[in-house]
Amino acid sequence: MSNNSNFRCTISFDAEGKHCGHIMIPNQRDDAALSFLMIPIVSIRNGNGPVVFLNAGSHGDEFEGQIALRDLARNLNHSDIDGQLIIIPSLNLPSVEVSRRRSPIDSKDLNRSFPGTENGTITEKIASFVSKEIVTRADVVIDLHAGGSSVEACPHIMIHGREFMQSDAIFSTTVAAAKAFGLDYTFIVDFPDRDGMLDTEVEKAGKPFLCVEAGSGGQTSAETVLRTKQGVQNLLAFFKLVNAQDDLDAIANRCAVKQICDDGFHIAPADGFLEHMVEHGDSVQKGDVIGRIHDIHHVLREPIVIKAQCAGQLVVRRMPTLTRSGDFIAGLAEPFVGADHGI
Ligand SMILES: [Zn+2]
Repeated sequence: MSNNSNFRCTISFDAEGKHCGHIMIPNQRDDAALSFLMIPIVSIRNGNGPVVFLNAGSHGDEFEGQIALRDLARNLNHSDIDGQLIIIPSLNLPSVEVSRRRSPIDSKDLNRSFPGTENGTITEKIASFVSKEIVTRADVVIDLHAGGSSVEACPHIMIHGREFMQSDAIFSTTVAAAKAFGLDYTFIVDFPDRDGMLDTEVEKAGKPFLCVEAGSGGQTSAETVLRTKQGVQNLLAFFKLVNAQDDLDAIANRCAVKQICDDGFHIAPADGFLEHMVEHGDSVQKGDVIGRIHDIHHVLREPIVIKAQCAGQLVVRRMPTLTRSGDFIAGLAEPFVGADHGI
């Protein structure tokens, strides 16, 4: 564990047992000179099994994972596992404290700031600590997200495509783990701004990475929190840190693997009120009307029609009605055909 002028950690990852402490990052404020940002961190270690890093709160308006990891950290004892869990329930603490996606300190999105830099802004320092001190020692990384305040999605695990992973074996393990989590879907997604994501950092290191997207709308439900808690337990069993309590094969068989279509992301062409014309789970054909955008100021102007750019199933969409040109508004998915990768 390195403790330098840019961050300290009050626990040792090499220590057996269960330890709770803080990542301490210098955070000068007008009302508190010489102060630190104190990010809670837990290490639970026993035996020689795999090291799993569980992280939530990269975005401060996504809550299922933050709740599930608090429960896990409280309830799990080191004697319950074979291996090590490194748990950070609320990684981007400044954004968590204000329920926002980006940090209120430097306006950066943590999950577009990796690998970070020790001498950067506070968000870049958080990313640097995770990259250097945790990703390097983890065998598997589980990043718990949700739709946040602006996105509604079917409960899913998001992973990147085979082309971004270092081997067929890592890709097939990642898909199998994603299915074993127990949500409805696994989506294979290619983001245009993939650089800067924790996903990419872990994939470059040649390790399995899962992004859990269990809820929507900047709020939780009893069902989404419960499914997240159960899913985390399923993953610990999948990676053999604990004994399986349920039939993981049966759970995995209920998860559909899909990929976002090449033209599946639809972007608003104008400002206005967004009127969705199809519901989650609906299937559409290319050219079908999936939404309309109504001009705010010109009442008699015909709305702009949004047509499906491809055939597919609506699996993710924008939540707020007021929309700006360039905003994401809907995503369509199609079945994934991955026989050539052993899926
Ligand atoms: Zn997120």
